[in-house]
Amino acid sequence: MKRRQLNIVQLYPEQMNLYGDYGNAQIICRRAELYGYRVRLVSYNSAPDMANLVKADLILGGGGQDSGQERIKADLVDRGPQLRAWAADGVPMLVICGLYQLFGRRFVTGTGGQIPGISIFDAETVAGSGRLIGNITLESKSFGRIVGYENHSGLTTLAPGVAPFGRVRSGDGNNGRDGTEGARADHVIGTYLHGSLLPKNPAVADWLLARAVERAGGTWESERPGGLDERADAWAERARRVAASRPR
Ligand code: GLN
Repeated sequence: MKRRQLNIVQLYPEQMNLYGDYGNAQIICRRAELYGYRVRLVSYNSAPDMANLVKADLILGGGGQDSGQERIKADLVDRGPQLRAWAADGVPMLVICGLYQLFGRRFVTGTGGQIPGISIFDAETVAGSGRLIGNITLESKSFGRIVGYENHSGLTTLAPGVAPFGRVRSGDGNNGRDGTEGARADHVIGTYLHGSLLPKNPAVADWLLARAVERAGGTWESERPGGLDERADAWAERARRVAASRPR
C-alpha cells in the first residue's frame, strides 16, 4: 500500500543554499521513499511560489552569505506571520545557519547592517570579528551525537528558556562561549551545521519525516515495506564515522 504523499518545500534555494545544504532535501526525499511514502519536492523563492508554500508538510532552508540574507529579507519578513503560525501549529522545519539566524529576532552584520528576523526563535545574532569555522560535533538528548560543519560570523545568543539543538562537544556552536548550538521551538530546528546535516544524522531526518507524516494526517511507520534498503543506513553510518573523526 502506497503511504501518503508528503509535500516538502525548500525555502529560498536560489539565495540560501551553501555548503551542500540542498542535500538535506535530497535525503529527506530519499528516506521518505525508502519508507514507502511518495514525495513532492518544490521550492519557494518569492511570492509567486506561494501556492507551493501553503501545502508544506515540511519546510527546509539552507545557509547564505550576508548578501543573500539581504536579498531575501523583505520577502521573509512578509512571510513571517504565516511561518510563525505554521510553526506554532506544528509544521516541522529545519533551517541552517543564515536562515537559522533570520528565524531569530535579527542578525546584525559585520558592517553594522540590521537584517530583521521573524522571531520563531527568541534569539539574536550579532556578527563577531572573525568566523567560526570547522568540523563540529554535538550531544543532543533527542538525537544522540550530531556531526556537521560550521562557517559563520554570527554569534547567536538564545533567550533564557530557549532550547538548543544540542550542546557542543567539539567546535564553537552558537557563539563559542556558552556551549549551546542551534535552537528548537515546537517542531522547528535551527542549526549552524552544514555538511549537509541530514545525510550524516539520519535520526534527525527521520524525526522531521515523522512530524511531516503526522502533519499530512498519517501515522509514522518506521518499518520499511519490502525491499528494505539497509545500504542507506550503512552509508549514513560511514559518513558519520568519517565526519566525527575529522579534526576541527
Ligand atoms: N552570513 C551569515 C554569517 O556569516 C550566515 C553564513 C552561513 O549561512 N553559512 O554568519
